[in-house]
Amino acid sequence: MQSDISKEILEQIPTPCWLLEEKLLRRNLEILKNIKDKTGVKILLALKGYALWKSFDLVREYLDGCCASGLNEALLAKEEFKKEVHTYSPAFKEEEIEKIAQISNHLVFNSINQLKKFTKKAKEVNKDISLGLRVNPGISAAPVELYNPCAPYSRLGVTKDNFDESVLEVIDGLHFHALCEEDASSLEVVLKAFIEKFGKYFDKLKWVNFGGGHHITKKGYNKEFLIRLLRDFKAQYPHLQIYLEPGEAVGWESGVLIASVLDIVENGMKIAILDISAEAHMPDTIIMPYRAEVRGAKEPNLLPYTYRLGGNTCLSGDIMGDYSFSKPLQIGDKIIFEDQMHYTMVKATTFNGINLPSIAILKEDKAIEIIRKFGYEDFKNRLS
Ligand SMILES: *Cc1c(COP(=O)(O)O)cnc(C)c1O
Repeated sequence: MQSDISKEILEQIPTPCWLLEEKLLRRNLEILKNIKDKTGVKILLALKGYALWKSFDLVREYLDGCCASGLNEALLAKEEFKKEVHTYSPAFKEEEIEKIAQISNHLVFNSINQLKKFTKKAKEVNKDISLGLRVNPGISAAPVELYNPCAPYSRLGVTKDNFDESVLEVIDGLHFHALCEEDASSLEVVLKAFIEKFGKYFDKLKWVNFGGGHHITKKGYNKEFLIRLLRDFKAQYPHLQIYLEPGEAVGWESGVLIASVLDIVENGMKIAILDISAEAHMPDTIIMPYRAEVRGAKEPNLLPYTYRLGGNTCLSGDIMGDYSFSKPLQIGDKIIFEDQMHYTMVKATTFNGINLPSIAILKEDKAIEIIRKFGYEDFKNRLS
């Protein structure tokens, strides 16, 4: 789907700025809703990847709730999403479990130890709470080890060997999360292992949660295959409610990060310094790593004018990459980084005192709402 960011709109945007396009978000949500309608699964938004809560009025029309990774995300889900709250954490803290249990519909533990430790308290403060356990299906097709929850020595989820059948008396569901930006064919592999290892317990359960990492809204994702897998599972285990909890697929290609060129320097090549930072604002470009697309630009040397784009921090490696343009860049030009809604604002820092980008929404009627600007106080308040 085409972006609506015109030259006029671009002129109105102060930089740096994350700009969500409501129309593109709705497109993703419609795809996800279609999967729900065709299969009966429930889909939750994973706040870890996308938490632009001023857009939740729209997301709420389509999805069933949020999955939270702890107290803060659970509170945000409760306050701003106002539907189901599913909370999982690698380890819950004693002093937070009561509050978390009060506001969560599902509480998923990472270990049998934690499940046993907190079951009584959780049920005491919320008699309707549904408890679950995260298991490790032992197989994942994650592209890099950093994103592989089933890698050797993974701390995430209980393995088959460590599973203790006595927990079946308290849990209603099993959860796995083993995918990262993957197609339905990866889910097929993981699902097979999940059923082989844990299927014998399914008759004691009410729900299963297939985690996130389903790249459903990406072009080329095999949605028909996903629908088939989910329907087959449902046919085999009709008593189980299936949940999916994508983060990335919700925010996928729904907005951009807009920067301005502050200066252009030369050192063997032309280098443009922008008013953003790869390290602070687009950390996955360094961690994952991946190359963010720049609107109108190509790989170096494909177009006549090649520049290295760098950030405005003192970190030498704060570099977005090398890009070529059809016209020479000028100081003041705006640079649009594509697909910057997920795993960006939730991870951003004020490293080096650099300002966080503003957050804006391009509404479906093309009105622009600048919903948040950051300044010195935000920098100062994270420190003391
Ligand atoms: C990260 C995570 C998700 C969301 O993953 P995406 O890759 O953003 O879809 C869902 N569930 C759990 C447990 C996670 O850790």
